[in-house]
Amino acid sequence: MITARGTISGVLDSEGLPAFERIYAGLPERFRAEALPSPPEAPLLIKVNEALAAELGFDLSHIEPVELTALFSGAAVPHDARPVAIAYAGHQFGNFVPSLGDGRALLIGEVRDRAGQLRDIQLKGSGPTPYSRRGDGRAALGPVLREYIVSEAMHALGIPATRALAAALTGDVVYRETVLPGAVVTRVAASHIRVGTFQYMAARGDEEGLRILADHVIARHYPDLADAPSPYTALLEAIVERQARLIARWMQVGFIHGVMNTDNMTVSGETIDFGPCAFLDAYSATKVFSSIDQQGRYAYRNQPGLAQWNLARLAEAMLPLIDADTDKAIEAANAIVVGFAGQFQTAWLAGMRAKIGLFDASVDGDLDLVQALLTAMEAGEADFTRTFRALCAAAIDPAADAAVRAEFSDPAAYDGWAAPWRQRLADDRRGAGERLAAMRAVNPAFIPRNHRIEEAIVAAVERRDFGLFERLVAVLSRPYEDQPEQADLALAPQPDERVMRTFCGT
Ligand code: AMP
Ligand code: MG
Repeated sequence: MITARGTISGVLDSEGLPAFERIYAGLPERFRAEALPSPPEAPLLIKVNEALAAELGFDLSHIEPVELTALFSGAAVPHDARPVAIAYAGHQFGNFVPSLGDGRALLIGEVRDRAGQLRDIQLKGSGPTPYSRRGDGRAALGPVLREYIVSEAMHALGIPATRALAAALTGDVVYRETVLPGAVVTRVAASHIRVGTFQYMAARGDEEGLRILADHVIARHYPDLADAPSPYTALLEAIVERQARLIARWMQVGFIHGVMNTDNMTVSGETIDFGPCAFLDAYSATKVFSSIDQQGRYAYRNQPGLAQWNLARLAEAMLPLIDADTDKAIEAANAIVVGFAGQFQTAWLAGMRAKIGLFDASVDGDLDLVQALLTAMEAGEADFTRTFRALCAAAIDPAADAAVRAEFSDPAAYDGWAAPWRQRLADDRRGAGERLAAMRAVNPAFIPRNHRIEEAIVAAVERRDFGLFERLVAVLSRPYEDQPEQADLALAPQPDERVMRTFCGT
């Protein structure tokens, strides 16, 4: 819903705003560059995430709509903020780029949330920064809505992700393949520090910078490690572990990030950068949606391996912190990165067991059982989300098999799998109610389906109709509930609705 037009420019001093800290802005100059958002032509607020705003200490009843619009479109910045663009490097599709940085994003500052955690408030699409190179620093409406929908959906699914606090139109146009409405998304993150932020320091041989950065990350994300015998080694270990768990969660909801470059991987363990990302409809291990991923580097099944590759780049960057003796540092770092595979596998299998309704983790053969299901789903072009959701009811009542069978082009393939599954369930003694509830809590009914996101974007871009966008955001905030009146949003795409390619739209 469009709530207000705003034209304020400059500085905001509203009593409803939380205090903005200047922590990253206070790091040494080589970490960041000061910049201000470009004044938008005719800003218009599309949406504010009221629940998140409250969590962050915004008192919306004490902020004028015109001030909110100004804040979330870049027309004005809070009086106590000192916006900066963050410097980082990154491997993009395997090629190292030593200087990237926030080219179309601006960290306004940090606020302390209700739980006492610092959170970054960042505008994305608010105009050029010193790191923009040839880019215009702007974002088009489509990618802004996509990021809003998908990041919020990930959060509601229980998967660590950056959040969306607001979306606004700037009133400017941006030039891509076509002329598009410009927009800004306000992103909230535990921090915006990436693998590439470490690489930026390492590429400059800046050991002092590495140390300052690592200390900052420990203080902010891993405070317990400050007293560890080797805090930096423990830090690498902790980041690897969080990423192993994160990627396992992605795999379990069929999420394909699409552009897992090292500059798009956080050290906090939050999913970041929802560019060409997409969810699987029919299960396919080799699925790629992103138009720029021509080699399929970031295909669904490659994600764990590529995450580990990225973490090896982080380990390389951190070597000087790990041990002054390079050989010893390599040995220690290597062991940690190698450990990712086992951690991922453990997290993945635990999650997949839960998805098929199993509690007892001590039984051999579950990996084969899960694999057999995925193989049958791939052959039968079964919809990933719908199949697992339908399994919930089938687990406690074979009469509910029909809904699962309907997902397979050859339903007999499911029958063949279900026989040993039922045997295994019978050994895994739990009450039906408990099993059903546990399965429904890990197998969502609703995911952000690509065809629905496209539909919402087309309506917004062509007709300024935000109805489907609003509806998607609302429904996806409760993905594990059936919401029968929203059943159309749980449907797989018809053949003519299928989205084959996604674009990052930068
Ligand atoms: P991304 O693909 O979003 O991860 O962005 C990769 C790099 O390109 C980052 O350094 C971005 O800041 C930069 N970038 C992307 N789009 C733009 C743009 N429109 N203007 C300036 N820089 C951009
Ligand atoms: Mg990025």
